[in-house]
Amino acid sequence: MKIIMLGAPGAGKGTQAEKIAEKYQIPHISTGDIFRANISEGTALGKKAAEYIDQGLLVPDELVVDLVVDRIHQPDCDKGYILDGFPRTIPQAECLDKALAEMGTSVTCAIDVDVPDQAIIRRMSGRRACLHCGATYHIEYAAPEKENICDKCGSELHHREDDKEETVKTRLKVYHDQTQPLLAYYREKGMLKVVDGTRDLDEVFRSVVEILGE
Ligand code: ADP
Ligand code: ADP
Ligand code: ZN
Repeated sequence: MKIIMLGAPGAGKGTQAEKIAEKYQIPHISTGDIFRANISEGTALGKKAAEYIDQGLLVPDELVVDLVVDRIHQPDCDKGYILDGFPRTIPQAECLDKALAEMGTSVTCAIDVDVPDQAIIRRMSGRRACLHCGATYHIEYAAPEKENICDKCGSELHHREDDKEETVKTRLKVYHDQTQPLLAYYREKGMLKVVDGTRDLDEVFRSVVEILGE
């Protein structure tokens, strides 16, 4: 099961990917989380990536593709995985297809979590993330049990710098220009599934399970 999560920033890709990973016991690979880990560790990759991320722009394809291709060759990916936040451009999708073809496999499906722009800013301003374990919360829609503390690992939660309103507007524009064309790319291959992401997160997950099977 090799699944791609598509959707605007804040649509709920990460939230659904976490639930999929748990139910189907496959790794959740988030390129955003990988970059943020590199930034907090101060690696060379993190320093380069931060120049783009802070402005709400995409990190150049060449900084992302090899990292993902290496990751999916790891033994824990043998039974499948969920890619969350990758691919984000047509060239990234083409590189992924090529790498998978060389491995003798292909993408199972791409799930688009569909949420209109108006709903996005509200989701992003309330988003809180655990930098330690990657769990995602929302102060209204998915609040942690203890304010600002991760339910899963007890770390303090963090409001991402790139989730402020001005940067979110740039990210939405970048999404429409560079990432949305992937919907047609996977639709033409017969791989695209769309779920209505405006509903409650458990309802969205039920639609995902209908697609992937129990
Ligand atoms: P969101 O969850 O809001 O969709 P992510 O955590 O996936 O955001 O990504 C945060 C930032 O990391 C993006 O705005 C972008 O700068 C960078 N990034 C993540 N994945 C990619 C990718 N596949 N290609 C280019 N940039 C990426
Ligand atoms: P993405 O990975 O697509 O950027 P996230 O999964 O991080 O999006 O979700 C963005 C914010 O919206 C988070 O604060 C999350 O808790 C919240 N959220 C996710 N799905 C839903 C939903 N169906 N309804 C309301 N809020 C949601
Ligand atoms: Zn945590």
